[in-house]
Amino acid sequence: TGSIDAKCVTKSYNGRIALDSISFRVEPGQFYAVVGPSGCGKTTLLKIVHGLVRASSGEVHVNGLPVAEPCRSRAVVFQGDSLMPWRSVLDNIGFGLEMGGLKREQARAKARRYLELVELEDVAHYQPHQLSGGMRQRVNLARALAVEPEVLLMDEPFAALDAQTREVMQEELLRIWHQRSQTVMFVTHQIDEAVLLADRILVLGSRPGRVIRVVDVDLPRPRD
Ligand code: ADP
Ligand code: ADP
Repeated sequence: TGSIDAKCVTKSYNGRIALDSISFRVEPGQFYAVVGPSGCGKTTLLKIVHGLVRASSGEVHVNGLPVAEPCRSRAVVFQGDSLMPWRSVLDNIGFGLEMGGLKREQARAKARRYLELVELEDVAHYQPHQLSGGMRQRVNLARALAVEPEVLLMDEPFAALDAQTREVMQEELLRIWHQRSQTVMFVTHQIDEAVLLADRILVLGSRPGRVIRVVDVDLPRPRD
């Protein structure tokens, strides 16, 4: 599960076109990157797939169902961090699960499992400010994965990290993706990052946002 189908998605803001009739399909389990220069509409496209922004025309289906509004079958990791500073790492993950209907103890147990997945079980009781930027972004990833979404959406998740941490995080993400066969749609303006991570790359151009090409990557990658 976890396909994404976009048909003729157009978005304009105050009459200015940000996306011009974009169509694509993401296969279940695919790691799909969207690249292009700043302002070409990458974030807008991701937000439309998430349901945070409505397309001016065209449609998006996730797993065959039309996207209407944000929903737990789609989780997002944004650039920078969106952790609640007053909660522990464990509770940052557990809180969303409780909101989703799990009982406190179940939520905490599940949060713990996902912290193990990102190898942060030792800092479960730390506050976010006690962690490095890379660790915080791992917590964001664990929190997104813990809701067990059909698709994981990522918007320049590593952009704020230093080069070395970024590399570690890229490997970490590949390891997890490989292990879970999770559909990922990953937005970046860095071609090298897209090539390193993705199976398929949608290249957008600017003025206005249009598909320039779709590239399949089939070079040996670190996980192979
Ligand atoms: P990217 O993620 O590729 O940098 P964005 O999707 O953020 O591109 O933006 C695409 C275009 O749409 C840009 O010209 C941007 O200024 C414009 N835009 C994005 N969000 C809004 C908004 N909420 N209101 C008006 N214009 C917007
Ligand atoms: P990105 O990191 O993708 O380049 P931006 O920094 O361009 O994103 O945009 C950050 C936020 O500001 C987004 O939520 C976007 O929708 C909004 N935004 C971008 N451009 C405009 C604009 N021209 N008018 C209003 N909001 C905008």
